[in-house]
Amino acid sequence: MPASTRKALKIDGSTGEGGGQIIRTALSLSMLTGTPIEITNIRAGRAKPGLMRQHLMCVQASQQISNASVSGAHLGSMAFTFTPSTVQAGDYTFDIGSAGSTSLVLQTLLPALLFANADSSNKSTVTIIGGTHNPLAPTTDFLQHAFVPLLAKLGMQVEIECVQAGFAPIGGGAIKATVAPFVRRANASRLDLTERGKLVSTELVASVLNLEYDICLRELASAKAALIEAGMDEALITTRGNKLYGIGEGNTCYAKVTHESISIQNHKEYHSEIFTLLGEKRSSAEKIGGRLSGLVKRYLFDTDALIDEYLTDQLLLPLALAGGGAFSARVISEHSKTQAWLIEQFLPVAITFDAIEDEQILVRITC
Ligand code: ATP
Repeated sequence: MPASTRKALKIDGSTGEGGGQIIRTALSLSMLTGTPIEITNIRAGRAKPGLMRQHLMCVQASQQISNASVSGAHLGSMAFTFTPSTVQAGDYTFDIGSAGSTSLVLQTLLPALLFANADSSNKSTVTIIGGTHNPLAPTTDFLQHAFVPLLAKLGMQVEIECVQAGFAPIGGGAIKATVAPFVRRANASRLDLTERGKLVSTELVASVLNLEYDICLRELASAKAALIEAGMDEALITTRGNKLYGIGEGNTCYAKVTHESISIQNHKEYHSEIFTLLGEKRSSAEKIGGRLSGLVKRYLFDTDALIDEYLTDQLLLPLALAGGGAFSARVISEHSKTQAWLIEQFLPVAITFDAIEDEQILVRITC
């Protein structure tokens, strides 16, 4: 049945975590399933409720790639309707017009583009202009080194290039994603990231955009010293400083922690978690480095789970689309619970969270 004649699925945007994620995930799923949606109470509990620039860009970009009819979407609006048509692979550019997160706009479009024109070999490209390193959102580094490799494990081929870095308040950054149509492999096994194996490496990377390079060196030195003091093997730690290209200024650092993961078939693979921080005006480089080491230590020493907080909510939708699977999570956030609820509104899947020993939760997605 064409989407235009189907009854709209009503979604209360204040459910659970009640933030922008509900809008983005609902748009993704609406495009994927051809379900018209009507979202109300958008970000109702937030200090500035309604659609902010980044969320509006998600609606407009989704409208463009799926030739949707939309009503009620404007800055600050608390409700809109969205009726998708067919998603078209192609070459797209979207400018958020602020330092809003390019990653979050991209994550809205990716599922639909992965499944667009699946019977052809036409790749899509999406360039998004805005912020590449935002607080409370995945940075480009996180997408490149944590999210994209997990998609690849599911057979979803996406490449992301940081064309130019952009930090608040100016933005002006750009990412370009190349998305191949997803073809489910006949012999694909379900994702199994439940058992954490041996620690393989910890890579510390600090970057500056038009700021003194010394900031990187100080962040790296303090993060490394704190990890060694906590008992980590120095031979497993590498450090790298990096100068970003772009307008404005900014500082970011991340730790890439790689473990072996062992599947039930006893097949050895690797999994990398990325922990990111942004420099702050009133925090010294040493303090940021210390905080970065704290994120790594919490993951290494407080849990045996493989997947940390942010990948947990971001992995649920790709997994539900790729046939399901299981992973061990350190924590289940409100974002993850809300995401699971929303996915189950659209797809015939069951998502369960079961506490298991050693401070971990087993997440299962059954299709
Ligand atoms: P709102 O302003 O309403 O809170 P939002 O559009 O800014 O909404 P959220 O709904 O809070 O965004 O969703 C944020 C997303 O960013 C989540 O998917 C979360 O996993 C991810 N995220 C937040 N912080 C990080 C981080 N440090 N690293 C990786 N991902 C992150």
